Formats: sequence, structure tokens, C-alpha cells
Amino acid sequence: MKLFFLAEELSFILGSKFENVDYQKILTEVFEEVQSFKEQGKIANYIPELAKVNPEQFGMTLNLMNGGDYSVGIVDEKFSLQSISKVFSLTLALSIKGESILKRVGVEPSGDPFNSLIQLEYENGIPRNPFINAGAIVIADILYSELDNPKIEFIEFIRKIADNKNIHYNEKVAHSEYETGSRNASLAYFLKSAGNLQNDVAKVLDLYFHICSVEMSCDELAKAFHIYANHGVSLPVTAQNIEKSQIKRINAIMQTCGFYDESGQFSFLVGLPGKSGVGGGIVAIYPNKYSVAAWSPRLNDKGNSVMGMKALELLTSKSGLSIF
Ligand code: GLN
Repeated sequence: MKLFFLAEELSFILGSKFENVDYQKILTEVFEEVQSFKEQGKIANYIPELAKVNPEQFGMTLNLMNGGDYSVGIVDEKFSLQSISKVFSLTLALSIKGESILKRVGVEPSGDPFNSLIQLEYENGIPRNPFINAGAIVIADILYSELDNPKIEFIEFIRKIADNKNIHYNEKVAHSEYETGSRNASLAYFLKSAGNLQNDVAKVLDLYFHICSVEMSCDELAKAFHIYANHGVSLPVTAQNIEKSQIKRINAIMQTCGFYDESGQFSFLVGLPGKSGVGGGIVAIYPNKYSVAAWSPRLNDKGNSVMGMKALELLTSKSGLSIF
């Protein structure tokens, strides 16, 4: 009996080593099949600086946790992480404050667009989750209170977990969003009036827009998500105050809330925890198996990359593997 469990456990740990999936072949097929979607969707032009990106681009990188990197398309060009960066800000806030942050932001899917105002009012200024804008603004407020130099410490935190010194804010994108961010300003002022924002609104928004403006390529993003795919095993010593159980919870929030009011659909079609951003990026993890990042700037009407969504759906369908 004992031996049986041992064998089971071993095959789970080593599973991906022995499984017969040709990821490079799958990625090449995915690349070909998503081409028929390349004219669908629109680039995020509500942030003028993002509208300057060439929309006809696609890239995808997959990293196996036990070694093996696969990619297709444009995987070394940096793009704007936008809401994907909210996974990192949540990780930092949780590592500093623990679950006390849940008094100020929930963990339920919103079922509403990411920038919706209406739910925030009838739920008395407590955002549904940390990945919609209102929730991420509360997280930015927490970081602003807790850190001496929030912008510097946040970017250094990302560099650490991504094991990459070449990660930066895009000041032009942050500024462009600040100039046109009336909707986010409305959310922040409402949070303030409800007593759920402690610092100066302009300063918190400046931090929030910088958090969203961080740039990475598909290769860099897939690597930065190793810690979510392997439950922190790859965390650098300097970031080991992030607990394994916190990573597990962040993955759970990605599963239920990572795609705003399309989270159910992503779960249904792809079956992995993931996160999207209006820069056209999508990142997902298969726990203990792989991290995968896809990027293509044209978005559907929920704000998620058309080709990126399709690519992830094809990946899990073709490999026959999802967490379900
Ligand atoms: N910075 C963007 C905004 O606040 C992020 C939204 C997103 O990526 N869904 O509108």
C-alpha cells in the first residue's frame, strides 16, 4: 500500500518528464492556427500610448518546471503588462501584510468589467477582488502606506522574483494613463469617500499607473511566473518571506478572477489559473508543470487578447492536459 502511494507521488512529481507531449510541435501548430484571428479585436486605445503598438504581433513562450523552454513568434519584445502586474503587487502586499488585506479587498469574481464603478458603490467601497481596477488601487494604497519608496521597492521586488534586472516601468505609458485615467480616478475618489483609501489619491494613482506600466517580453513573463507554477520553490532567498500558502491563494484568485467578467469562460475553455492585461498579454500556469505567456495586442470586448485566449485554449486542448 505504502509503496503504491510512493509510486503515485513519484510519478506526480516527475510526471512531466515522462509525459509524451511535444510542446514545440504544439506551439508551432498554435502559431499557425491563431493566424486566422489576427484581424479580430481592437488595441487598447483608451491609453493613447498603448495604441501606438503594432497590433499584428503574436508570441508565446512555455517553460517546463523540470527544464525545457519552448517558444514561437515574437517572444523577446517587451509589452505593457497592465493588469498582469497586479499579480505581483498582490504578492508583495500579501508578503508584507498577510491576509489582513482581505478586510479591504475580497476574493470573489466580479462578473463586471474590470473598470466598473457600479458594484463598488453598492458594496460600500470594498472591491470584489485585487485584479479589478478598484481592488488593485486598494493594493497600491496598501503598498504606498507600507513602503518607504513604493515605486523603487516594487520594481525591485519584480526584478527579484523574475530574476531579471532589466525590468522597468514605461514612464510614457504611465503618464499617458494618468492623463486619460478619469475612470480610475473616479474609483479612487469613491474608495476614499468610503474610507478604503488612506493616502493622497493622486499619489496612489501614480503608483497604480506605474505598476500597470511595467514591461516584459513573453520570455521574461513566463520566467517571472515560475514562482506561481512551482509554489515558490524557485524564490530567491531575498524573497522568501512569501509563503507557499500565499502563492497557492494567489493562484486560486487567478483561477476565479484573472480575466474579469470572462474568468468563467477562460476557466471553461483553458482550464488553468491565469491573468490577462490590456497590453495584450496573458500568462497562465499549470501547477508543478509549466508557466506559459502569450502576447498579441488586439483585445476582445472584455479586454482580453483575442489571439492569446485562443492560443491558450489550443494549448490545453492539443496537449489534453488541464488542471481539471
Ligand atoms: N491600467 C489599466 C487600467 O487601469 C489596466 C486594466 C487591464 O489591464 N485590464 O485600465
